[in-house]
Amino acid sequence: MSALHEIDALLEGKKQEILQASDTIWEYAELSREEIKSSELLISILEKAGFTIERNICGVETAFIASYGSGKPVMALLGEYDALANLSQVAGATEKCACPGQEHGSGHGCGHNLLGTACLAAALAVKDYLQQHQLPGTIRYYGCAAEEEGGVKPWMARDGYFDDCDCAFTWHPSDTTGVFNLRHYADKVFYVEFFGKSAHAAASPEMGRSALDACELMNIGCNYLREHVVPNSRIHYAYVDAGGTAYNIVQSHCVMKYGVRSMYIKDAEEITERVKDVARGAALMTGTRVEFKPLMGYSDCFQNAACAQILNEAMEEAGGPQWDDADYAAAAAYLKTYDPSMLDKLADVIKGRYPKDQWQEKKAYPLDTQVTAFDPTRLQAVSAGSTDVGDVGYVTPTAQFVMATRTLATPAHSWYQTSAGGSTIGHKAVLAAARVLALACVKALEQPEQLEKARAEWLETTGGEYHCPM
Ligand SMILES: [Zn+2]
Repeated sequence: MSALHEIDALLEGKKQEILQASDTIWEYAELSREEIKSSELLISILEKAGFTIERNICGVETAFIASYGSGKPVMALLGEYDALANLSQVAGATEKCACPGQEHGSGHGCGHNLLGTACLAAALAVKDYLQQHQLPGTIRYYGCAAEEEGGVKPWMARDGYFDDCDCAFTWHPSDTTGVFNLRHYADKVFYVEFFGKSAHAAASPEMGRSALDACELMNIGCNYLREHVVPNSRIHYAYVDAGGTAYNIVQSHCVMKYGVRSMYIKDAEEITERVKDVARGAALMTGTRVEFKPLMGYSDCFQNAACAQILNEAMEEAGGPQWDDADYAAAAAYLKTYDPSMLDKLADVIKGRYPKDQWQEKKAYPLDTQVTAFDPTRLQAVSAGSTDVGDVGYVTPTAQFVMATRTLATPAHSWYQTSAGGSTIGHKAVLAAARVLALACVKALEQPEQLEKARAEWLETTGGEYHCPM
């Protein structure tokens, strides 16, 4: 019996429990740091299976670590389970419609119900495999709370929770399937708060010091800064509190959120300091005072090629989800909601992935069936977005893959993902992702020399140094 057959048999026995967990977390749809019921559900299943649980990791109530086994290798699976605001959606519905009575409710628009549950299923299967073969080795489920907003992984990395790990694997829901080979941006996010003085805007403006003026001058300053930062950097901002709606009062207090992304965390930190200098300049110009409050910091995310190679072997063997006619029909029904730009994107995605003579046919069956092989020559290419998986990569060899969990060309953080993630498309994806993760762990157990290679690569890339950006 091959390892994959064994994993399939182990997962088959847990199938109902796995799918129920995924659907239940989908229904809870708890936001970052509020994932009380979701984390409790995962903990209860892992505890029942014999895992040792450590709760309240880094003081975060919804973060935990579940561990089984002893000795080397120590393998980490990174589970996430938080939802997003305003993405409530009826499961499997092929048009945008919130669950009844939850018009502004949250939803799993990034598919973290699938992400967290596939890691759970893999951890359970690897535990059984270790037990059945009486092998040394440790499998850990990291309950990585709040990935969507100020994730806990940087603190876990800072506090040494990954220090004895040999490898970490995770995955992310997507519209395509393959081992990830791109980088993600480092991301620093912080609040900028200006304090001025209120006064009657017409009768005594000379008495006032405008916090709103300070915001505007800061934004203008940052617009000039943009040209003079390293390429592949982004400076985002949003008003949190623009000082109220009264036009006849000098605004005494305003808050903005600033986010700085760059290819490397050291550049993001350097640009952040320059953005703060611009804010200080704006405060000086307007006679206001400025304060900064950190919100989140994610290191740049890169793949460990040796670990990605293990994932790649597992993925080539296990493949992606096996869709049936009902799945294809459901996936195609979503296309009716596509506007012309999304149809263009669909054509681009399909043409990029499928031979010329197949792309028209694929439009009628718009679920990905290809597995993109890991391409080590693309390790420096950048994918937009940021993730705190990057911080794990700085402290232990880490690799991840994506798997199709929704119709081709549909975006993440959308009702499309919420809908598909609660349907049979999501069910197939969660089981398929679990078998890749579990098989990768078995391959890691069987290939100590590959783990040594991964460690040497990690040391060369990072110098063994980590600076927590939070
Ligand atoms: Zn996500």
